[in-house]
Amino acid sequence: MRVPGSGSPALTVDPDGAHDGMRTAGDRVRKRALEERDRTPDPDPYGRDHDEWNPGQGPNPGPAQSDLTVDKFFQPGGILSGRMESWEDRPGQWEMASGVAAAIGSRRHLIVEAGTGTGKTLAYLVPLVLAGIRAVISTGTKNLQEQLLRKDVPLLESLLGHKLHVALMKGRGNFLCLQKWEERVRKPMLEGTADLTDFGLIHDWASGTETGDRSELQTLRTDSRLWPQIDARRETCSGKQCEFFDRCYVTRMHQRAREADLIVVNHHLFFADLALSKDDFGAIIPHHQAVVFDEAHEIESVIGQFFGVSLGNSQLDELSRDVQGVASKAKFGSKQLDRLLKGLRTAGKNFFDLFSDMESRTTLRERSEFRRRHGKQYDSLASALEGLHSHISLVAGHSEEAEPFSNRAQSLLVTLRALMDDIDSDLADAAAGHPALSLMIDDRRENFVHWVEKRGKAVHLRATPIDVAPILAETLFQREGSALLTSATLAVDDTFDYVRGRLGMGNSNELIVAGHFDYRRQCLLYIPDNMPDPRANTYSERAAEEITRLLDLSRGRAFVLFTSYRQMTDIHKRVSSFLPYPCLMQGQGSNAALLDRFRATKNCVLFATMSFWQGVDVPGDQLSCVIVDKLPFAVPSDPVVGARIEQIRAEGGNPFQQYQIPSAVLTLKQGFGRLIRTASDRGVLALLDSRVVTKGYGRIFLKSLPDYPRTSSLDDVANFFQRPA
Ligand code: SF4
Repeated sequence: MRVPGSGSPALTVDPDGAHDGMRTAGDRVRKRALEERDRTPDPDPYGRDHDEWNPGQGPNPGPAQSDLTVDKFFQPGGILSGRMESWEDRPGQWEMASGVAAAIGSRRHLIVEAGTGTGKTLAYLVPLVLAGIRAVISTGTKNLQEQLLRKDVPLLESLLGHKLHVALMKGRGNFLCLQKWEERVRKPMLEGTADLTDFGLIHDWASGTETGDRSELQTLRTDSRLWPQIDARRETCSGKQCEFFDRCYVTRMHQRAREADLIVVNHHLFFADLALSKDDFGAIIPHHQAVVFDEAHEIESVIGQFFGVSLGNSQLDELSRDVQGVASKAKFGSKQLDRLLKGLRTAGKNFFDLFSDMESRTTLRERSEFRRRHGKQYDSLASALEGLHSHISLVAGHSEEAEPFSNRAQSLLVTLRALMDDIDSDLADAAAGHPALSLMIDDRRENFVHWVEKRGKAVHLRATPIDVAPILAETLFQREGSALLTSATLAVDDTFDYVRGRLGMGNSNELIVAGHFDYRRQCLLYIPDNMPDPRANTYSERAAEEITRLLDLSRGRAFVLFTSYRQMTDIHKRVSSFLPYPCLMQGQGSNAALLDRFRATKNCVLFATMSFWQGVDVPGDQLSCVIVDKLPFAVPSDPVVGARIEQIRAEGGNPFQQYQIPSAVLTLKQGFGRLIRTASDRGVLALLDSRVVTKGYGRIFLKSLPDYPRTSSLDDVANFFQRPA
């Protein structure tokens, strides 16, 4: 197969996308020039040259605070204690803020572990504002973005006594597309009552919204069928050709970001942007002098996604549906196009059916051999994509709406060929506009693991970088400015060697700030001393007994966290019928719905796997016990984990010591971290894996955890629960 046309296609793989409607090579060149103007020589938004920027003397500390320093803000008797009613002395917060200020001042990177309750958001926001630089804050989730904007920023504004220039950036799928919405209002084309309800909700909201951000529409169902048909995703955006371009919510979001001092994004958007801007092309986050990664323990997996490549059956279906939807309206529909779309759907189904017998995550080795063995299905799909691309290219001259679909078909073809190792010089040229594809094809082929992921009916072929360190070193840490990584779980055995090595961070300042909570008073860690090895046949039965006793003492109110789905269902079956408490299990509804039910149900117990080990917050005594069945070692049978283990071994290292132990330590810290969320929380942590005391490496786990008092006696657990708070 050959890629149609020559040179770089305008690949439409931008997950958030430069909102510029690039339609011609000239447009792209102009865009690149604009981007370069925005990035280098970098006219300072505050009228100063970056080489002269002077931390602590920023433009935005407000008239009354031009001499304000971090110390004057955080020290007892300072701004924070004087103006905040609920002020508590948090030495860790002041220490962290000083560390952030020092890193920004010396333009160094910083890695800081700050325990829960430190108040780390103010600890990085204040030095950033006082430095008067433009900074990006990247959070783990959209919810945390909202919290920053709605809670932390207003608090800081009230403390400082002046407004901050802050912009929120999200992926395009979060915004309403005005063009599609106008079209939908003219021709509603609704199916069923759910669509009708959603249409009414969106209609009322759309007439008044300033931002077009779907998060304002809290009553809209998360699985609304209508929303994906009217959101501002790049694939269906006509860019500058759109009559709504100037009013478009995405255009306005970019405008606000260009005018802001603090830009709040999430890791997905940041790394999607970084992947695109590897060669200064397509980036949307304006140039900045510092970036803070909050919840930084999550970034390795996010980077893997955005510097990776994937192709799923749903992308083919979406392309077919989108073309069909626009073709008749834009007058490029025809019987031939219908035939091509039908051919694409059939070829896509036949090709992806080849993976139907595989496990949910399977390494795909010998891809060329696989392609040759299944040449009929592969060639049919490649021909179907090529045929669609060629046909739409022909009509694109008569219809502006057609061109993005031609590019999309071509982009999918290039991706398919790259993933199936059907690579030649034409393909390398065609992939040049897509950094992740180029990385995979040219630069570091051996650094990618190829695998298949199946979830329900969705099948994805994926290529994931095995080691993101060299990529991140080049794209982030070797750039000007400071990168600040913070989380409650970054250190292993009191060092950052593991995280720094995995992320390619190199030299940096570092700091471990003790949490604000009194773990010796608030917690008890229970490790039974007579448990069999978790690999023994008798383990599940004994674990079920221990869990039943613990839940009896805690009166439910517990998370029971597992490392595997199979173990979770087995123990749930053994335990739940003997418990007088409501028992929920992951998979019985969406994770969000389960969490809501857990919060609202007295004495509830939730059996869960990895999704509940982090990012879940249940303050108060509703959650009074967290039980972990096994040390959460990443399993070598997983394609990405297996490839990382093989790579370390091939380089002469010890993957268990260098990768599996430290990553399990961080996961365990996250899991246990669910229990104590406020200074008044208290409860019991239980670890049913005897290896933590019988194996030499157990010391690393115990040393890396906060200073929990420890027991192996259930009597102590009973006494703890009986003691008044
Ligand atoms: S520019 Fe037009 S088509 Fe693109 S997202 Fe905005 S409103 Fe929709």
